[in-house]
Amino acid sequence: MHASQCLLLRPSRPADSFILPLDDEFTSSLQANKIWAEDISTKDPEFFKNSAKGQSPDILWIGCCDSRVPETTVLGKKPGEVFVLRNIANVINPTDIALLSAVEFSVKHLKIKHIVLCGHTSCGGVKATLANNKLDILDVWLQPMRQIREKHAATLNELSAEDKEDALAKLNVQQGVDNLRRIPTVVDAIRDRGLKVHGLLYRLSNGHLEQIDTAEDEQASECRQCTFELK
Ligand code: ZN
Repeated sequence: MHASQCLLLRPSRPADSFILPLDDEFTSSLQANKIWAEDISTKDPEFFKNSAKGQSPDILWIGCCDSRVPETTVLGKKPGEVFVLRNIANVINPTDIALLSAVEFSVKHLKIKHIVLCGHTSCGGVKATLANNKLDILDVWLQPMRQIREKHAATLNELSAEDKEDALAKLNVQQGVDNLRRIPTVVDAIRDRGLKVHGLLYRLSNGHLEQIDTAEDEQASECRQCTFELK
């Protein structure tokens, strides 16, 4: 078919009519974005100009996808101040390429000073792990947390349903912090420049972040270093 024939077959309507109708929530969100951007520009005329130049966040936040835990908001930060990776139930799987890429970029190149792994109360992923319903691909994703449930079954089974959820959410963070501390890039940054890895639990009922004990003693730290340090 000749090019001119192709042109003739094109529907004669404006390009923007190809855009599907937007639902109200989406349309209002786009309108809200315009207001937000104008508001920021008014208060800080240099903000977007500086933002376009680059980023230098101090924190890598790894959290759950849950819509109720927006890291930049709950930390009282602005765009550009937190590097973010979120997944279902903030699972730290040492073979997750998305995790390893985010860690590599933020730790090695952005030189972030803190990694924060944050779980939260009433997490759907934690609830799913404590139940025994088939969830297909989610079962694969949640497998590491199911292993934590198995390992701590005796303790967890003593608790009420709500306490059990909180306890598993915390154990998942503690295990996740352990796993993070064994990623070679993190091992090097802890040794060379004192990178810190923290565990937090966000409580939905009051918006507070609670620190989870993820301390390791000197002997454990040295043993980890010797085992996972790669030269
Ligand atoms: Zn969650």
